[in-house]
Amino acid sequence: MGYALICKLSLSTHCCVGCMNGTILYFDLERSSRTQILSHMCYKVFLETGLFETFRIPMKEFITYFHALELGYRDKPYHNRMHAGDVLHGVYYLTSQAIPGFQMVPADPETPSASDICGQRAWFPVEEASYGIMGANFTSLELMALYVAAAMHDYDHPGRTNAFLVSTHAKEAILYNDRSVLENHHAAAAWSLLLSNDDCNFLKYLDKAEFKRFRYLVIEAILATDLKRHFEIVAEFNSKVNEHDSPGIDWTQEDDRLLVMEVCIKLADINGPCKVHDIHVQWTYRIAEEFYEQGDEEAELGLPISPFMDRDHPQLARLQESFINHLVAPLCKACAEAGILPGYWIDDVDNVEGDGEGDNTTADELSIATSSCQETDNENDESSYSDDNPTIFNCKRKVFCLQTKHLQDNHRHWMHVIKDESKKKDEVVAVKTESVAISTEDAMETILEENNTPHSLNRSFSFEKEDSKL
Ligand SMILES: [Zn+2]
Repeated sequence: MGYALICKLSLSTHCCVGCMNGTILYFDLERSSRTQILSHMCYKVFLETGLFETFRIPMKEFITYFHALELGYRDKPYHNRMHAGDVLHGVYYLTSQAIPGFQMVPADPETPSASDICGQRAWFPVEEASYGIMGANFTSLELMALYVAAAMHDYDHPGRTNAFLVSTHAKEAILYNDRSVLENHHAAAAWSLLLSNDDCNFLKYLDKAEFKRFRYLVIEAILATDLKRHFEIVAEFNSKVNEHDSPGIDWTQEDDRLLVMEVCIKLADINGPCKVHDIHVQWTYRIAEEFYEQGDEEAELGLPISPFMDRDHPQLARLQESFINHLVAPLCKACAEAGILPGYWIDDVDNVEGDGEGDNTTADELSIATSSCQETDNENDESSYSDDNPTIFNCKRKVFCLQTKHLQDNHRHWMHVIKDESKKKDEVVAVKTESVAISTEDAMETILEENNTPHSLNRSFSFEKEDSKL
């Protein structure tokens, strides 16, 4: 397989930030490399993080497996191989990019031993001392598990929801007793592909303990993407990190690192609204089309059409507003407060080379989209540096995070659309009332949607009210 195209796929720091800013590059790449985008992405991530050498990954098997994996993604509007590559890119971004004030914890020289590859740390360069990189706090095995889980996580997705598979008694629902049906299927089928063919087994040089741990981590990470477990995982993370008297992430504990891995893959999986608006809109159209296809099938089967899946009553803005308000924002807020989102110190932003987004943004505008998550109890407003431990910074400096800024922008956009739609609807109702008074013929009927004021207008989006917290 020719991998010349990989050269085009830069995962450098600047490019990654740029990609979050505008995944146009990514859509372009998909057009030029329709069936190889995921394997290209995997290859590049493994190359950048040194995983090929660390685990003596055989190239032939690696390429055979990931190409077979990407071909096993169906050509669905949303849950396709491009989405898998996007999630892989998302977890790579979170684990490889500079996070202001992030504390990198040195590996314990005693447990595990330096010779134990399960405990071996990945290496990430840090260009500035006041920044840290989350990937450095994971073991190489954990990082590899996170990246592979991202690539596998929606394998053979049928473009239908768990609820649909359960209600139609799909064979996967029967097999997995209605529980996390899709996620169980993705993990089992992707592992079956790997283990059923020796030519695909790129893990052949892992020892037994490494393989066992790796398989466990990959399965846990994939199962965490079931949105039914969203609130449970976010609550667990908040009680670990963000609530009063929370103990904080203990990076020396495997369970804590697994929880962060789960949060990372979840955020990467639902981060569409954290992307620059044009890209967010493209993903929105894709998920809407996939929903409509399910709605069509529900109608054919005589089932009630699920919310937001009726193509005759599109509710894109409400779908996205609800998605952001209930799922993406709470998770993003938890990550921001925990200080694990890449970004810049506000006073560094002026020095950041233009990425096409921030160039025209004033300092005042930036402060709206800031996070105070790295704040500490230090009385001093100035950032202070501890000579005793160079990884610890006590600071009250604000940070700029591109993801939360995009989330706010996109939420604001959908709220405006909802308000406009509501206004138009009111006008239509007024016209209708008038015309009914004149004639019983109601020509407007077909374009009327529900008369209710959207419930979502009554809800508040925490980012709008609590800007200072993000
Ligand atoms: Zn997904």
